[in-house]
Amino acid sequence: MINEWVFLDFDGVVCDSIEECFQTSGLLLNFPQDDWGFLAGQQPPLIDLGEEYKARFRRVRPYIRSGEDYVVVHRLLEQHQDPQSQKAFDAALEQEGQARLEFYKKRLYVLRESLLKWQSDLWMSWNPLYPGIAEALKSVLNNPRVVILSTKKAEFIAAILKFHGVVWPAERIFYTNGRAKIAIVDEVAGRSASTLVDDQIDHLDFSHPFCRCRLALWGYASKEAREKDVPSWTLEQALEFLREL
Ligand SMILES: [Mg+2]
Repeated sequence: MINEWVFLDFDGVVCDSIEECFQTSGLLLNFPQDDWGFLAGQQPPLIDLGEEYKARFRRVRPYIRSGEDYVVVHRLLEQHQDPQSQKAFDAALEQEGQARLEFYKKRLYVLRESLLKWQSDLWMSWNPLYPGIAEALKSVLNNPRVVILSTKKAEFIAAILKFHGVVWPAERIFYTNGRAKIAIVDEVAGRSASTLVDDQIDHLDFSHPFCRCRLALWGYASKEAREKDVPSWTLEQALEFLREL
């Protein structure tokens, strides 16, 4: 066992969650004031705006840093103001304002909790893992230095992994709660060698003295990020790395 910390992002590294994000953020916009109690008795109406809309949603996905950003994506697409760069999207987030983003964030968690409680099979079906990831995670289940580091709350990650047969220890799922990922890496790993794998380039620091950062190419890495020629891994390379730990 190599004595190294490993931090894995969740959405876009472990889990291909775009359908979940598409559906939950769309539901939130369609039922802004709902308490989601109706989910106890029936499935939510699915968001179906056609394939072209979905393709546009996917094109913007690389600019997402946190769950509430998806709500803003839907709003921009509906107004035919598709952001063309990270900078343009960040400007739209700024315009939305911190208070509204916080509101979306809280409401999305209430919605997710309700879906997980009452429509668990449907919600799980929106959260497939990337091929080979479940087996790779199982192979490092007993390595206490392999952790998941995500902007998504730990309880949802644990539930998704369990659904896919991976009983991952809760204490090895770190929720950023608004903090920079690299600051959490520094706190946990200190001066020990570590690796951080993430598909959002802004979470990575390629000149970090102790942490090897790798851009995950199988996830939602943006075209701009891919063109920067930074250290990156394919899914196969990441699986190989995990298998060798
Ligand atoms: Mg990600």
